[in-house]
Amino acid sequence: MKDKTVTLIHYGELSLKGRNRSLFEIRLQENIEKMAGGRVLRQRGRFVMEGGNPELLSRVFGISWYASAFVVDKDYESIRKAVLKKAGEIIEGKADFGVNANRSDKSFPVRSMELASRIGSEVAARFGLPVNLKNPALRINIEIADRVYIYFDRVEGLRGFPTGVSGRVLSLLSGGIDSPVSSFLMMKRGCRVDFIHFHVFSTNDKVFGSKMENLARILDSYQGQSRLHLVPYYPFEMALLGAGDVKGHELILFRRFMARVACKVAAAERCQALVTGDSLGQVASQTMENITLFKNAASLPVFQPVIAFDKQEIVDYAKKIGTYQVSIADYKDCCSIVSSGPRTKAHLRRVEELEKAMNVESVLDQTMKLITVYEL
Ligand code: ATP
Ligand code: MG
Repeated sequence: MKDKTVTLIHYGELSLKGRNRSLFEIRLQENIEKMAGGRVLRQRGRFVMEGGNPELLSRVFGISWYASAFVVDKDYESIRKAVLKKAGEIIEGKADFGVNANRSDKSFPVRSMELASRIGSEVAARFGLPVNLKNPALRINIEIADRVYIYFDRVEGLRGFPTGVSGRVLSLLSGGIDSPVSSFLMMKRGCRVDFIHFHVFSTNDKVFGSKMENLARILDSYQGQSRLHLVPYYPFEMALLGAGDVKGHELILFRRFMARVACKVAAAERCQALVTGDSLGQVASQTMENITLFKNAASLPVFQPVIAFDKQEIVDYAKKIGTYQVSIADYKDCCSIVSSGPRTKAHLRRVEELEKAMNVESVLDQTMKLITVYEL
């Protein structure tokens, strides 16, 4: 048989049962085909991918682990030859090894235990290495199923739920560290995440080429086909200037404005909730009172996945998912413009008066007309 390599993809024990389980599997299968490009066959609680780019599987939610596997003929001699050849290519420098065998095709004449021990003796004799079954430097796995698969290293997947199984949400994406992490965490939970960003540029196009584009693209690499809604901030800014003494309320007014715009966009895009990167108490605008004022302005549920995270925990996460370096680059964010000494406890009555004074409904209408959406 000619050398053939496939990728085994495991999605682990699913907590979902019945109909949900097969919806989960079908969605995962489609997502893998879309993102990694291979042909994916469903097989006894796992997938086998032919072709495609296995490296991209590290960005697909719902996978617990995957491994590159060699397909060999279903007889002892072919297995022995293939293991010795393939192990020989990577065994240098390894202190010890172990063999796992697994026989789901019971018609194969050699039992798992016996197969593992016979192959183990062959490898030990050929390479002069000791066996270590507990924690070997090289693990040799042999699976006897529809075909025989031999593989070595497993690559850990992202886990979580496949993109799309939990519905669709709209994430308020700033240029900071927190909101990209929040977006990622909602994706991990199976949501398809759209993005909305408020910017200080004169036109929406100018956001492209800025770090916002990079951030959106990194996040997009985990789900594909993301939609980025761009909203200019200047109508709000103008209205704020005409609203009289707003001192200390700028940020809370702006945040409530963002909530209103985002809810309208979400409704049009059939997103069922908003997502923000708020972390309780991290800054003045994120006190319990101010977060409540934000939620009061939203007509949809607001998810805040990092609400209880320390800054350092969020930073660690951002590094892991690849957004940190982009997030810390310079950028003129509207929040940094409006946030000179914000109140930690704004009052709803006062806030509503100011919203009236700035004619928030008409600013909202004006802004809605200026939004454009980009498909990444
Ligand atoms: P981040 O690191 O995500 O910017 P932060 O700790 O700096 O968060 P704020 O700047 O107060 O906090 O923003 C709180 C949340 O409001 C952000 O996490 C984000 O979800 C949303 N947000 C802030 N600015 C914008 C913006 N320009 N466009 C869209 N959403 C924004
Ligand atoms: Mg910010």
